[in-house]
Amino acid sequence: MPGHLVYYFGSGQAEGGKELKALLGSKGANLAEMTRLGIPVPPGFTITTEACLHYHRERELPEGLLQEVHSALQRLEGETGKSFGLRSGDPRGKGGGEGAVPLLVSVRSGAAISMPGMMDTILNLGINDRTAEALAQSTGNARFAYDSYRRFVQMYGEVVLRIPAARFEERLHARKEARGVAEDNALDADDLRALVVEFKELAARETGVLFPEDPEAQLRGAIEAVFRSWDNDRAIAYRRVHGIPDDLGTGVTVMAMVYGNLGEDSGTGVAFTRDPGSGENRLYGEFLSNAQGEDVVAGIRDPLPIDEMATRFPAAYQELELLRDRLERHYREMQDVEFTIERGNLYLLQTRTGKRTAAAAVRIAVELVAEGLIDEAEAVRRVAPDELNRLLHRQVDPAAEVRVLATGLPASPGAAAGRVVFDPAEAVTRGGRGEAVVLVRRETSPDDFEAMVAARAILTTRGGMTSHAAVVARGMGKCCIVGASSIRIDEAAGWFRGGDEVVRAGDWITLDGGDGRVLLGEAPTVEPEPSAEFHRLMDWADKFRRLGVRANADTPADATRARSFGAEGIGLCRTEHMFFEGERLAVFRELILAPDAGLRERALEKLLPMQRSDFEAIFRAMAGLPVTIRLLDPPLHEFLPRSAEEVRQLAEAVGVDEPTLEREVERHRELNPMLGHRGVRVGISHPEITAMQVRAIFEAVVTVMRDGVAVHPEIMVPLVGAVEELRRQRSLIAEVADEVMARSGLQVPYLIGTMIELPRAALMAGAIAAEADFFSFGTNDLTQTTYGISRDDAGNFLPRYLEEGIFADDPFQVLDQEGVGRLVEIATREGRAAAPELKVGICGEHGGEPRSVEFFHRIGLDYVSCSPYRVPVARLAAAQAALRDRRPPVRDRAVETRVARAGVGQPQPAQRRPAAAPVK
Ligand code: PEP
Ligand code: MG
Repeated sequence: MPGHLVYYFGSGQAEGGKELKALLGSKGANLAEMTRLGIPVPPGFTITTEACLHYHRERELPEGLLQEVHSALQRLEGETGKSFGLRSGDPRGKGGGEGAVPLLVSVRSGAAISMPGMMDTILNLGINDRTAEALAQSTGNARFAYDSYRRFVQMYGEVVLRIPAARFEERLHARKEARGVAEDNALDADDLRALVVEFKELAARETGVLFPEDPEAQLRGAIEAVFRSWDNDRAIAYRRVHGIPDDLGTGVTVMAMVYGNLGEDSGTGVAFTRDPGSGENRLYGEFLSNAQGEDVVAGIRDPLPIDEMATRFPAAYQELELLRDRLERHYREMQDVEFTIERGNLYLLQTRTGKRTAAAAVRIAVELVAEGLIDEAEAVRRVAPDELNRLLHRQVDPAAEVRVLATGLPASPGAAAGRVVFDPAEAVTRGGRGEAVVLVRRETSPDDFEAMVAARAILTTRGGMTSHAAVVARGMGKCCIVGASSIRIDEAAGWFRGGDEVVRAGDWITLDGGDGRVLLGEAPTVEPEPSAEFHRLMDWADKFRRLGVRANADTPADATRARSFGAEGIGLCRTEHMFFEGERLAVFRELILAPDAGLRERALEKLLPMQRSDFEAIFRAMAGLPVTIRLLDPPLHEFLPRSAEEVRQLAEAVGVDEPTLEREVERHRELNPMLGHRGVRVGISHPEITAMQVRAIFEAVVTVMRDGVAVHPEIMVPLVGAVEELRRQRSLIAEVADEVMARSGLQVPYLIGTMIELPRAALMAGAIAAEADFFSFGTNDLTQTTYGISRDDAGNFLPRYLEEGIFADDPFQVLDQEGVGRLVEIATREGRAAAPELKVGICGEHGGEPRSVEFFHRIGLDYVSCSPYRVPVARLAAAQAALRDRRPPVRDRAVETRVARAGVGQPQPAQRRPAAAPVK
């Protein structure tokens, strides 16, 4: 293999530093870096990630690795004055002789991107019967020596020999019981010595070979175990969820032990340089005295808050405070450190970028700018856009007293309370009646889909972030927690146990999909109030981004929310919701099923004022900003009466006999409604509907403008596949709009455009652009029709595709850039070639998904439009895309602004490009 495989750090010097993260893993690289900075770090060495990759490729350790390790060990012995295994030929000639101090080491894994839980650390490696005795002598503390030995055999047994942890725990527990003590610390040296013997016997029985005594053999076993851990199930799952490539490999860091378990003057802990919950600038963490390694996080004893260290270990505490400042100034980022105090002396064993909540991420980024450590661009880069999602959704009131039953994976944000229902059919019935229910299942399957729709929230005890429940709930924007594995559930008997509580069907629970907490009872939930830091960060993001960001909003409430989140207009107002409810639904049914023109006219007259008032309210909420209103889209099939009773009522309302109405209903039924009578096709077969909608829009425009409110209407035609469809609708729209305006004496500039959501439309973009002022990609339908996967039925098979890695992502959430994205790119290019002023946006779900936003930025769209909650996510993602992209912009954002702000008195688009003669 090229280059060397082992990098040493110690005595204030190190081979490499934080710039070598890829080669040494972040743990190894940061230890080297801290050593160079003169921060107290025990000396050691790191085996490269290249060696790990070689091991996986060739199924053996690279040649020369063990010799390099041996030399590094000798150097470590020289530096520490201790001897690894007390071998003869010891560098200082002490061998195993009187007074020699054994060198023990820790072995840790560390990839370039930190992956908590990949492999557990092994401490005290190098200990055996001989060195344990020497350790007891050299420290004068036999209890400590055998405590260290006991821990080593246990850890090595679990991690390297893969013996279930419970086998060791049972024996440890039995011994504590026999001695009548509760804590590990209360066992004495003899107990621990006996446990070592027991543990080693157990290991020999389980593996069929003796427990390794030779320290170099122990080390080799540990190195190979770390390498293997790169491909264990936990690590693979973690990489899948976090999008970490499989070919990074892990480094192995071997470091001289320092002991936190030497007595009450020693200890160990973890600390964050800022509060990871709130982001507050203060030392935050926990510690335990007389403890080692994982004790703090393992929950064996209750750790103490870090403030108490100030009284127990004042010097070490002060040093930690100084190091906190030093590390932050050096890394310009909040750090998470592990430390050990050995007889009053502080050592850092690790530093890395600290994980934090979304709220803390925003606050820390903004405060680091104020402290002069980073600039605004860097602050914008520091916050993951998806995290904002969590910040902005409804959440459990932080001030509420809650009782946590369990914590699972936060699969879909939001918070909701409801009565527990285990039976999907019951969820459908009760949810359908408007009752608040939470569906609780071991896991969900496609059969549960309707129940998931009816429930306020979904909880499963199994499954990961790509399980059926997670995928479907996220798709619906519904609060969901999956994999709450500490919950014991009996669906048939109708109860589950979380912690000490038994919850029965019908009891209230609350889910917080932002942090994965399952709470007992009905906890109060609140709309989060974005902080001042949040607004500051968003303002900075706006300075960098080139993409415009609009919202998909169908109601004045949504429009107002979107505006408060920084939307620069509405990119999609779906008008169909305006027909789906109560009285309107009945009138709409009258319209499409009425057998003659007179009855249709009557229905239209009833609908017109309803639509007009909807539009007025939206225009007012979006005063001064562009509003894209899409003409009716959903399949007519969806409006048909569903029961005999509905048919009877409708026949009465329309004034026809039931058989006639039934015939009309039959005529409209479809086998494949998504590909049927919807979108522009409805406008073609019912031009009177288009005309009514356009009349309502422009009458609303006139009313609102007379009140001094600036309006920028954009009329959008859905599901166009042929240019002739758009041409005809355009001329109809222009005719009605002009007529309304002529009557009012007002001239309102407006745009007429189309959605591009069929592959044919994308391929015909050049021709279609001749009839359109703008394109807006409907990537939901474009994905559906490009893949030939029904949006509504994908839940039946998509989770399996994701679990098995057939699809890397759900294409309805993350744009398929290679396929669907290619169509978007072609259509944008060819559309603009034909009509250079063409404004191009996207309004499918992908408009608020960060990776997709980056793609839309790259190909030079003018704007994205997404649900109101995702507007900040899109703003931040667009800014990050611009910061990553150093190429000159494909098109300047000014174009979008120019087109949107085209003021009164400028030529109307319909006049700029004469429309074809109206078609009747
Ligand atoms: C789309 O298809 O992407 C779109 C925005 O329209 P809808 O989701 O209403 O079909
Ligand atoms: Mg669509």
